[in-house]
Amino acid sequence: MRRRGRIKIRDLAAQRMRLLLRMADEVYPWEPELGLMYGDLARRISLRTKVKIPQEWRWRYCKRCGSFLYPGINADVRVRERRFPHLVIRCRLCGGIRRIPYLREKRSARRR
Ligand SMILES: [Zn+2]
Repeated sequence: MRRRGRIKIRDLAAQRMRLLLRMADEVYPWEPELGLMYGDLARRISLRTKVKIPQEWRWRYCKRCGSFLYPGINADVRVRERRFPHLVIRCRLCGGIRRIPYLREKRSARRR
């Protein structure tokens, strides 16, 4: 395949993944199994094409079992402040935990 074709496939893959992930989020509360399936499809596209999952969705995959997580349905999200502000995401399927540090906006943190 020529180089030009490759770039197009990557674009297409990224587009398709975003679509799948948006659809996954939309159907998840009603049809968790379908949501999981869409999430899984997006992940498989990512693996096959080596195109990374868009950043805003990357934390939605369990690092341990690879499931697509939906907070409140198959994942618990808690905010922790100890040592450093971070989110704790726990996968209900395998119990895997992931910590995501976040930066508080200095200005809004001062308000209280
Ligand atoms: Zn898991």
